[in-house]
This record gives sequence, structure tokens and C-alpha cells, in this order.
Amino acid sequence: MAAESPELVETWNSFYRRYCKDEVGRIAQGERESLRVFYTDLVQYDPDLADDLLLHPEETLRAAERALAEFDVAADVSLENTSVRVSEFTQKTEIREIRSEDVNKLVSVEGIVRKATDVLPKILEATFECQRCGTLTQITQHGNDFREPHECNGCERKGPFELLHDQSRFVDSQKIRVQESPEGLRGGQTPKKIDVNIEGDVTGEVAPGDRVTATGILRARPQEDSTTFDLYIEGNNVEIQDQDFEDFEITEEDVTRIREIAGRDSLFEDIRESIAPSIYGYEMEKMAMVLQLFSGVTKTLPDETRIRGDMHVLLVGDPGTAKSQLLQYAQKIAPRGIYTSGKGATSAGLTAAAVQDDFGDGKWTLEAGALVLADKGIACVDEVDKMRAEDRSALHEALEQQQVSVAKAGINATLKSRCSLLGAANPKHGRFDKYEGIAEQIDLEPALISRFDLIFTVHDEPDEEEDSRLASHILQTNYAGELSAGGEDPKEAMESIEPDIESELLRKYIAYSRRECHPKMTEDARERLEEFYVDLRSSGSEDVVPVTARKLEALVRLAEASARVRLSDEVAMEDAERAIEVTMASLEEVGMDPDTKEFDIDIIEAGTSHSQRERIRSIKEIIRRIAEDNDEDWAPRDDILQMAEDNGIEAEKVQKELDQLKTKGEIYEPRNERFRVSG
Ligand code: ADP
Ligand code: MG
Repeated sequence: MAAESPELVETWNSFYRRYCKDEVGRIAQGERESLRVFYTDLVQYDPDLADDLLLHPEETLRAAERALAEFDVAADVSLENTSVRVSEFTQKTEIREIRSEDVNKLVSVEGIVRKATDVLPKILEATFECQRCGTLTQITQHGNDFREPHECNGCERKGPFELLHDQSRFVDSQKIRVQESPEGLRGGQTPKKIDVNIEGDVTGEVAPGDRVTATGILRARPQEDSTTFDLYIEGNNVEIQDQDFEDFEITEEDVTRIREIAGRDSLFEDIRESIAPSIYGYEMEKMAMVLQLFSGVTKTLPDETRIRGDMHVLLVGDPGTAKSQLLQYAQKIAPRGIYTSGKGATSAGLTAAAVQDDFGDGKWTLEAGALVLADKGIACVDEVDKMRAEDRSALHEALEQQQVSVAKAGINATLKSRCSLLGAANPKHGRFDKYEGIAEQIDLEPALISRFDLIFTVHDEPDEEEDSRLASHILQTNYAGELSAGGEDPKEAMESIEPDIESELLRKYIAYSRRECHPKMTEDARERLEEFYVDLRSSGSEDVVPVTARKLEALVRLAEASARVRLSDEVAMEDAERAIEVTMASLEEVGMDPDTKEFDIDIIEAGTSHSQRERIRSIKEIIRRIAEDNDEDWAPRDDILQMAEDNGIEAEKVQKELDQLKTKGEIYEPRNERFRVSG
């Protein structure tokens, strides 16, 4: 390796004297382990030096470290082997824009940490002892392969050698994968990624899901058996960014347009209609999506308890009812949106995973799943009912505490998942039956279902009038697509499906509102929500709990979101009414006992309604009574049906319950059409 140019070392030295006294002091005090050099200081001090750093980072940084080692500090502190780290490097490169011409230059990328390996020691200077003559030989290690001496410096024989750990120099090393963050992507783009190898005091500082700026030297490594190269960054610095939506540029002009829309009488309709213009109908679902995109306000109580402002929405329905399409639209419009399927394209699934794979060369790697990558945004998860078993247990925490804990193979981490979930699920058995409870029809635990603020069901039922309107809408959409593909002007044909507010502007509108508006409840709105909740609680008969306090929190979030749509700092009466309207629409679909037409939270939270539990209890009682009367331990089916009917339970329902009880093992059928209660 060439020696550093003395001139360059001197330039660094005088730079340190002018700009880095404080930073050097921090190192001397033991507050920091490496020297932070602010790039803007460097540009100001000597633009040529800044250029050198950019174009010839390896030698320039080496000179910087040499200069630091020679720098005059308190006598008992050595700055030998202290790293110099470039901070706030202003020349950012987009990960997708990195090209071969950048190789060996200093680059800086922004993104979200997708994976991070364990921190493990890596050897830099290895000291070997010859087992024949005892001479020590030092070998500087580069790259991945561990190098031993060819021959002993003393006796010139080929060893054997022993590595002396305490006379070798090690450094902590870690590999992270940075991928483009959702807000930087135009709706629907697939994120690009780059790996960064880091060493020393910057290791162990970032976790998957963190948004970072990674700065370092771009390197190229040949791919195995190929003439193409992989690019990676030999990391110099990794800094966590914590600003929100900052890098999402919203101009004065945008704000003027946003304010114009906010002032319209038809504000809510216009936004709702712009959500998924090619999808016909679903007004309530789209309104729920609008409110979810704007989100409630997250609050921290004096005792540090956090109340989430994010709301979770679930769409359950028949196949082919445009659920997937709706989710894709939401992702496109969300300032930070991620679209994935519960079946999972990645090993990290929806929450997170600790894996041992190629990435870490056998080291354990922690990888962020969709809900962590969507931190401070919205995760659109299609087929959420098909998620992995590991995700099921982690999802409660992710949705309610908005964090994901991983404890595996020595990895103990808590990742943030402060996002909203928009989920879609298909019914277990083909089609949705609106006379059955929702928990029985989808493959999600009731406890998980109850975490959703709003649930909607979409049915695919033939209806002549509706079908003809839907058909003409779909055909019109396709026609516009054909014209456009054939190079013709689809303007006229597009009219019905062109969004009123184009998606880029709507994205900015949402980001702007979430950043600027933190609405507070007015007295009127508070009273209205309270009155609604109390009325709802007292509706229905004894023993039935219509809703729990969770619904009240959901109502608050919805009302706040509604105020944000209006860009208002106050939650007004109209926001409370809108929250109630959407909540009622959802409850009528999934929270109502089809038998009694009463609201019953148990349908969602326990999976069976109060009336159904009563019915099951009666049927079991009937089986026992008939068995006892007959002096047997079983009852014939016909007798059961007869006695149940005398007690006002329809035969069809009895049959259904018998089937289910049998599946659950609560009753047996020891012989055809003879039933026995277990236990
Ligand atoms: P799902 O995910 O519910 O199974 P998809 O989103 O895959 O359904 O939709 C299937 C197809 O049907 C899509 O091409 C979609 O555009 C069309 N479709 C279904 N319902 C509607 C609707 N209401 N308006 C417009 N297109 C619809
Ligand atoms: Mg689908």
C-alpha cells in the first residue's frame, strides 16, 4: 500500500485544528470512539479536499486517519486506529441510480434497514507464532479469506503457526441491507437494495426497520462464475434518520392546490372517488380507507403509555371482488405504503425473523417483515389469513403495541411497527355466508380479528341492476386501456375512471395533513361520541355485550382522521358523525347476531354470539336429557331435532351445530345418527 501523501496529512491536520477540537475532545473523554467529520465543514474549509474525499475516498480517508493518529491531544490518549467517519454527506445517491462509474467513489444512500447480521469480531492484524522457532509474524487481513504466513520470518520454514489472539487486532463487524424506503418510491415500484459492510463503533447501532443514511466506498465484487459484478458499500458511516415525511417534497404550489381541495363542499366524496376510480362501488370501504390513510393522532399519556393513532381495517369477502385491487390502490396513494401477501414473498413474513442464510455467511441475521418496513406508514396485506404460524403469534403485539419482539439464537430485539394494517381475507369455505359469524368463516383467531378497528365484508351476489352497472364500468375501464395501448387518446373513455384528484397530489395531501394537523376533540364531538357509545352499550338484552371500550378508541381515531381530511385542528361534530356512520356500517356487517339482530361483541371477540352459545348449551342439555330418559348414554338424532324444535330452535340450525360440535370434539357420534356429549 502506498504511503499517505504528507501534504494531504497536513491538510487534514490543519482542518482538525480548525473544525474538530470538540469532536476530538469527545473522543479523549471517552464519549465517542470515532471522529465525526461534517462534510459541509470540509467543503467550507477546502473544497479540493472535499472533492478528493468524494473521488478518491480510500487514500483520502487513510490520510485522514494518519493525521488523526498524529494529532496532538492529551498525552495519555492515543488516536491510533481511530476511525474517521463522514457525517451528513450532502451528495446523496438513489440506490436505483448507483452505476459502475461510482465504483471506488464515496457514495451515500438513504433507505430502510431490511436485514442486519449479528455483530461479530473480525480480525484485522493477525499475529502468528512459529511453533518451531517462536518467531512472530504479522499478517494484515483483507477480504473474506483468512491468510496465514507462507513461511516463518525467522526460520523460513512453513510453520506450523499458532494465532495469538491477544496480540492480534480485531474489530466488530456487521453487514446490513438497505432498501429504498416506501416514501421514495413512486406508487407500485419494487424497492432496490444494497448491502453495506460496517466495522467498529457503528456496528450494533441500527435495527431492521430503521431509516438510515449509509455512507461509504462503493465496491464491486465479481459474482461467482460470471463476468458481472455485485455492488456493495464498504461502509464508513451509518446514521439513523428520525424525521417524518421530511424528504417528501411538498411545494408552495402543492399546498395551494391542497387547500383548494380541502375547501370544496364535495371534499370527502372527491377524495373517496379518487381512491380507486376503476373499482366500482364500495363507498363505505373506500371511506374507511380514506380515514385510515389520514389516520388518527398518536398520543403519549403522562405515564408514557402510548395510544395508537393508526387504525387497522380488514376486508373479508368472496373471491374476485376487487379486494386485491383496492389494497394496491391504497399502497399507491399512501405516503409510505407496502403491499405484500400473507403467503409471504420473504422469509421475514409480516413481522420479523431471525434466519441463518447466505446473507450473513452463516451468522444470524435479523430481517424485518412487512409491518416493520411499513413503520409510520401503511401495510397492505393481501390474504392475511394465509400468514405463517410465527406471524400469527407476533401479530397481536405488532398491531396493538406496534412493535415486534424477536428472541432467538441470542438475538434479542424489539423492532418498531408503528403502522396501519389494511388486510384482505377470503372466507375459508369458498363463499361468505352472511348468516354465519365472521370468526368461523375466516382463518384468523377472534383475538386477532378484534384488533381491527373496522371490518367490512364484500359479497358477490347476483343483482341485475348492480351487475349491469358494474359490467359497464369494467368494460369502460378496459376500453380506455385498449385505446391507450393502441396509441389512441383514451380521454373520453377515461372520464369515468379518471381520479378527480391525481394520486401524486393525493399522496402529498395525506402526507401534508399528517404532518401539519394534530386535531383535538371539541366538547360537542366528545359528547356525541360518548352518547353514541353509551347508547350502543345499553342496546340489546341482558347478558349480551354489544361493544367494548376498544370501539370507543376506534371512534376517536376515525373522528380525528376525518378532521385531518378537512385539514382541521379540531374534531368537530361532523367528524364524530362520520366516525359513527362508518363504525355502524361495519358493525351491521360483522357485529350483529343474525338470529337476534342485536349487536354482540362476542361474535368478533369470542367467535360465537351469545345466542349461539345459548343454543349450543340447550342442544347439549337436550342430548343429555334424552339419553337419561332412555337410560342410555346417547340420543338419536330425530329425537334431538324434535325436542329442539319444541324449544324453538330450527332444525337446520340444530344440524349445523351438531356438525360443528362434532368437529370440535364436544360431542361424539358413536354410531350413525346417535350423539353423545363428551366428558
Ligand atoms: P379479489 O382479490 O377480491 O379476489 P381481485 O382484486 O383480484 O379480487 O379482482 C378480480 C377482478 O375483478 C379484477 O380485475 C377487478 O378489477 C374486477 N372487479 C371485481 N369487482 C369489481 C368492481 N366492483 N369494480 C371494478 N372491477 C371489479
Ligand atoms: Mg385477491
